[in-house]
Amino acid sequence: MNSKKGTISVWGGETERFPEGAITPPIFNTVTFAYDDLDDWHNVATGKKSGHIYSRNTNPTVRVLEEKIRMLEGAEAAISFATGMGAISNTLFTFLTPGKRVVSLKDTYGGTSRIFLDFLPANKVEVMLCDTTDHEKLEAEIAKGCDLLYLETPTNPTLKIVDIKRLAAAAKKKGTIVVVDNTFATPINQNPLSLGADLTIHSATKYLCGHSDAMGGLLAGNAELVRKVYQFREINGASLGADPAYLIARGMKTLELRIERQNASALKIARFLKAHSKINEVFYPGLETHVGHEIAKSQMSGFGGMMSFSLKGNYENVKTFLHSLKLVHLAASLGSVSTLAGPPKTTSHVELTEEQRRLLGIPESLIRYSVGIENVEDLLADLSQALDKI
Ligand SMILES: *Cc1c(COP(=O)(O)O)cnc(C)c1O
Repeated sequence: MNSKKGTISVWGGETERFPEGAITPPIFNTVTFAYDDLDDWHNVATGKKSGHIYSRNTNPTVRVLEEKIRMLEGAEAAISFATGMGAISNTLFTFLTPGKRVVSLKDTYGGTSRIFLDFLPANKVEVMLCDTTDHEKLEAEIAKGCDLLYLETPTNPTLKIVDIKRLAAAAKKKGTIVVVDNTFATPINQNPLSLGADLTIHSATKYLCGHSDAMGGLLAGNAELVRKVYQFREINGASLGADPAYLIARGMKTLELRIERQNASALKIARFLKAHSKINEVFYPGLETHVGHEIAKSQMSGFGGMMSFSLKGNYENVKTFLHSLKLVHLAASLGSVSTLAGPPKTTSHVELTEEQRRLLGIPESLIRYSVGIENVEDLLADLSQALDKI
């Protein structure tokens, strides 16, 4: 199948007839798979024949989801995990054994940062975290020798942009494995593998699922590398269940529609906020004034539905503003059909001190805003009335 993304989202993993002619994937809530013939069973168990043995390893419903992301990311192979952090931790711990060296960014997702700052050093892995947009420094650290380069772009919460092609080229010279967390962009807006990455990761909990009703993680890329992570996951058990896999695969059928809508709405909202007298700064890679705009334009086909902005004034203004918004859930997470918002101070960066947040360029009055699929005129009116309250 050589289809476009909107078609793959619907048909990926679903081209063969399901039992009884069902046109949606059955939810295979079964732990194990029975065989009438021992030779058959043995052939499947030893990989000589395709089939399923035990749902910690593979499951037909889960397979549908894995096939969708494999095709959307243009990958040789893909596997799934119970959560996005499952995908990230399994990947990092598969390749980063004691004595290895990893180079990454200061602005990775909070949970990922914890792995870099606490768990990997405890495992005698050397971790080098660079200023996120300092490409020269990143190249220099890669050149010193590095087993794995871990990137994320756009980043959380200030939407910094990292040049995947440039850094992947530097990594290739050293035989470094390049991993990119593509959660914020989604495979509709950005395909890291086509830019030189070896592996790409998603928190499927966010845009892929799209409805905030299931959690999951996905890894796609080079078959040999994916197989190594699969062998690790098979044993440590961070597997995805059939129920959430069904919900995520179902959500993904509308992925392109949702992302196109969210791209368009976010750009309108970012322009509106940028021009508003009560707004201090807007962080959205689609704005020409964003520092990473040119790189974003070269590696993304849309700028996504995530943005952040700071208000003029203090944290009291943030409270008044957020409490006045009506079309929003004040909640963690992102990428849902409904708009979500919150200050990094209480969500993604709650563990940091005010000083640490300042060093990461996160103003105390910053608000992260995940644009939903509501009518954009309604969202603009809602933001406008809430800004009038401060
Ligand atoms: C949410 C998120 C994760 C973690 O995913 P979970 O499904 O919550 O475990 C990783 N990376 C990014 C960029 C995220 O937004």
